[in-house]
Amino acid sequence: MTGGAGFLGSHLCEKLLAAGHDVLCVDNYFTGSKDNIAHLLSNPHFEAMRHDVTFPLYVEVDEIYNLACPASPIQYQRDPVQTTKTSVHGAINMLGLAKRTKARILQASTSEVYGDPQLHPQPEHYWGNVNPIGSRACYDEGKRCAETLFFDYWRQYQLEIRVARIFNTYGPRMHSNDGRVVSNFIVQALRNEPITIYGEGNQTRSFLYVDELVDGLIKLMAAPNDLTGPVNLGNPNEFTIRALAEKVIEMTGSKSEIEYHPLPEDDPVQRQPDIALARARLDWEPGIMLQEGLQQTIDFFRADPSIVRTTSLAQQSA
Ligand code: NAD
Ligand code: UDP
Repeated sequence: MTGGAGFLGSHLCEKLLAAGHDVLCVDNYFTGSKDNIAHLLSNPHFEAMRHDVTFPLYVEVDEIYNLACPASPIQYQRDPVQTTKTSVHGAINMLGLAKRTKARILQASTSEVYGDPQLHPQPEHYWGNVNPIGSRACYDEGKRCAETLFFDYWRQYQLEIRVARIFNTYGPRMHSNDGRVVSNFIVQALRNEPITIYGEGNQTRSFLYVDELVDGLIKLMAAPNDLTGPVNLGNPNEFTIRALAEKVIEMTGSKSEIEYHPLPEDDPVQRQPDIALARARLDWEPGIMLQEGLQQTIDFFRADPSIVRTTSLAQQSA
């Protein structure tokens, strides 16, 4: 598993270990954290390796989940050249590893390959609407090129590939400074700080709870070889960002007020997955409602001493 110490990767490592697999977690800790995998280190079937996927990797494996890549706009724009290298060189190195070891390989692609979509909801056959030179391009085009590489290795070398297009996923172990909307809003609400909506908050996203995403990835890896993907994995329930802010304020009982900030460049207006393919071929469909998943995520952040301490200080001064 590359990116195994990240938010999604750590949940996937856990689930694969529980299913009896040996897991090698490869990560350079750019956005991931050893804390995410600390509880797995005593498991003899788990191994953590510090490695940057932009360099070749020589290990013996029979399945590869390629998740290495910062996923939050703030994080992937911090070092955009490295982001593109991680997606492109990382894909080449991991596909090379798959070719040598004859391993099946799954790419964690993204709904960002659809860019600011002009077709709604987004089915897998939609080619997308991506600005190739904007500030999101390092991520979007990097992921698109990685998909190209996966399909060329499949056509040219008959590799067993799987490509998942993941839509906004949230849950426990998102990093509190990660910058993504769910973690930002919950942390701000728990600290009674202003909730930062970018733009007017009318843009939409569809939020998938992490456990369901992990199930979808494992099902896709185990699917028959004709199901290369791409396969959308996301929750079709769509919310405006303002509705999310209001829900988080209500569920946390926060005193936070909403503050409006400029909308970042190329921020997609609408996003909702068409999951007909995952339903039909993977028998996969999300069932966890936003309210339920948010509660789990709020509970996780409440248990974080750094956030609780700030909360009580904020409450004292209020
Ligand atoms: P994350 O930032 O928590 O995890 C990414 C992990 O990759 C981190 O542990 C990071 O340290 C590691 N990493 C980054 N560059 C690396 C490199 N060069 N070499 C080795 N490790 C490297 O993000 P996440 O949400 O867990 O996302 C995991 C994957 O899923 C990413 O590829 C992301 O693009 C994809 N994805 C996530 C979402 C989502 O909503 N969470 C949506 C679409 C796609
Ligand atoms: N967003 C926001 N406030 C924040 C963080 C994000 O309004 O503090 C918005 C962001 O502009 C986008 C949406 O929430 O429209 C989702 O952002 P995120 O970074 O989570 O993921 P994206 O889908 O844009 O990759």
